[in-house]
Amino acid sequence: MENIYDIAIVGAGPSGLTAALYARRAGKSVLIIEKSTFGGQITHSPRVENYPCFKELSGVELADKLVDQVLSQGAEIEMETVTGITGEGGNFTVKCENAEYGAKAVIIASGSEHRRLGLPREEELTGEGVSYCAVCDGAFYKDGVVAVIGGGNTALQEAVMLSDICKKVYVVQNLAFLTGEELLARELEKRPNVEIIFSSTVTQLLGDGSLEGIKIASPEGERELAVDGVFVAVGQKPENEPFKNVVPLDEYGYISAGESCVPENSAAGIYAAGDCRTKAVRQVTTAAADGAVAALAACRFVDSLK
Ligand SMILES: Cc1cc2nc3c(=O)[nH]c(=O)nc-3n(C[C@H](O)[C@H](O)[C@H](O)COP(=O)(O)OP(=O)(O)OC[C@H]3O[C@@H](n4cnc5c(N)ncnc54)[C@H](O)[C@@H]3O)c2cc1C
Repeated sequence: MENIYDIAIVGAGPSGLTAALYARRAGKSVLIIEKSTFGGQITHSPRVENYPCFKELSGVELADKLVDQVLSQGAEIEMETVTGITGEGGNFTVKCENAEYGAKAVIIASGSEHRRLGLPREEELTGEGVSYCAVCDGAFYKDGVVAVIGGGNTALQEAVMLSDICKKVYVVQNLAFLTGEELLARELEKRPNVEIIFSSTVTQLLGDGSLEGIKIASPEGERELAVDGVFVAVGQKPENEPFKNVVPLDEYGYISAGESCVPENSAAGIYAAGDCRTKAVRQVTTAAADGAVAALAACRFVDSLK
């Protein structure tokens, strides 16, 4: 291995990039390894209105500013997919598809992906009526008609929130019952502008250029719903498979780590930041906060090796 970095960071989303910023400013050598998009998930958002200091900007603009800031501090970046981590504190090997990198400390900032419906044109309509985040995009559908797909806690919370903003909210659940908390279900049932449709699955996204409706199928047959927006809340998929041998994952695949970003029962010198870890709120602000916490802890660890 040619270079041994002080800190290797897996993922160039908001948490990984913020970690790099803090680590570089503390004078550490930093390698960020990213497999696909600099900026992570936020690049899928056409409009971000809840990141402090910016009244409104696109996710791509936000990511570009962050990448620019990090590169100007001298962080190195490799386009690679990390396939595993071996070794121990002070002497880790980060294994990628095409190379291996040495690092004294490693920050896993691999994020998570929203599960998709898997329908044709879903990607093309994302940001054009299809959303995976009511907190992020709900305000764009003020007084509109929307459908939330799913019946778990995330779906029910999103439906409650959207029912305060939208004229009408459909909740389309594939099962004959809701799987989210009883309290949330009761709250929804009280709201006159919410209609829960059970035992139904979305089979088609309708509309040219932007979403105009959905087709849903139930044992009674197929029908169309005219909607301005669809909020897909059928779960998230953390991207932690390559790390399961070095950090513990919870039952949903998130790295078990609290606010300190230190994974439970793991080797010293390994940290988990952002959406990839167990946490209550997955947003850019919380990811950036984790990046700072993890980087400063990693810097202290590297200094302790001297
Ligand atoms: C459509 C959409 C809209 C959103 N809107 C908002 C909003 O308005 N406001 C807000 O605050 N939040 C919003 N969010 C949520 C926000 O984007 C996330 O909370 C945030 O990006 C999490 O940052 P992260 O760095 O932890 O993870 P991510 O952004 O997921 O970044 C992780 C990075 O790691 C890379 N990676 C994963 N595995 C590997 C590997 N094995 N090797 C190399 N690289 C790897 C991924 O490619 C990715 O680039 C939105 C999310 C979506 C999907």
